[in-house]
Amino acid sequence: MNILGIETTCDETSAAIVGANEDGAPVLRANEVLSQIAEHAAYGGVVPEIAARAHVEVLDRLIERALAKAGMRLADLDGIAVAAGPGLIGGVLVGLVTAKTLALVGRKPLIAVNHLEAHALTARLTDGLSFPYLLLLASGGHTQLVAVKGVGQYVRLGGTIDDAIGEAFDKVAKLLGLGYPGGPEVERMAESGDPERFALPRPMLGRREADFSLSGLKTALRVEAERIAPLAERDVADLCAGFQAAITDVVVDRARVALRSFADVAGHPTALVAAGGVAANGPIRRALAALAGEAGLAFVAPPLDLCGDNGAMIAWAGLERLRLGLVDDLTVPARARWPFAERPGAAAVTG
Ligand code: AMP
Ligand code: MG
Repeated sequence: MNILGIETTCDETSAAIVGANEDGAPVLRANEVLSQIAEHAAYGGVVPEIAARAHVEVLDRLIERALAKAGMRLADLDGIAVAAGPGLIGGVLVGLVTAKTLALVGRKPLIAVNHLEAHALTARLTDGLSFPYLLLLASGGHTQLVAVKGVGQYVRLGGTIDDAIGEAFDKVAKLLGLGYPGGPEVERMAESGDPERFALPRPMLGRREADFSLSGLKTALRVEAERIAPLAERDVADLCAGFQAAITDVVVDRARVALRSFADVAGHPTALVAAGGVAANGPIRRALAALAGEAGLAFVAPPLDLCGDNGAMIAWAGLERLRLGLVDDLTVPARARWPFAERPGAAAVTG
């Protein structure tokens, strides 16, 4: 079985082909990713209209390249999977219309994948993980702790009530005059900084619900930065180190709380999984690995190229859905918002 996966929900255009061998194990045949970071850098964030146009310009070539790398043609595929949301609607439409056209012309099943579900299932592509597991999904637009029980079965144990973690990194970087995207810049500066020079808050620490709130931390950092302005390089490094240390403490505490409530909704987890762009952060990864170790669980974080947005995770989620007969017709809509996990007790979203 071989599936084409198309990703255009934000600022990465990607086409990938993922197959499965006879015993169902995944085979990553091609994963072409083109980041638009350069197009958006001048604006300090993703500009939706620029993103949509950039997807249009490169998507067909990326699909051709993925097919060539896999040594395949459209006729060899068993299905076309596409991220139908959530995301910037212009970009989502580019991917979805392309996927519908290929499915129609090639007479292939169409699988409309929730982008967040794809992040959630990536650990099964990279590490062959079995259900259930606890997922921390932390990207530029999302921050959630989710019990992943099966394909289409996701229980939300916590999430952010304001900024996403990646967004907080991006905003802090902008405030400190660092480049975009902010996460890698803040992490690099933090390496030489003193995390204890500034007493920054750890919002929500100790709360019983596994939720996040990051806007207060961001504001506290701004107040400190303004107090000592103008900032020398040393100051920026110390602020970055303090911010990263605070976020790391919060992430570990929130994940610990989610692990405690996990058994009530899903039994015993096989692992703690980190996904999304923020999972590239070294200190956060190491702290989560230590937490998993304490709990006697494996820690899984996809390799860096599969942490950020990519077509391989869409293809894999499509393959998992197709195996269960979960396909879509050509009327399936593009969705800017599309929650994939429900609070405990609410009806599960499987469609
Ligand atoms: P995504 O939304 O999954 O494409 O991931 C992009 C987000 O991840 C952006 O907000 C980045 O700032 C963030 N990010 C990427 N690398 C890192 C890192 N090393 N540390 C923290 N955040 C990061
Ligand atoms: Mg992205």
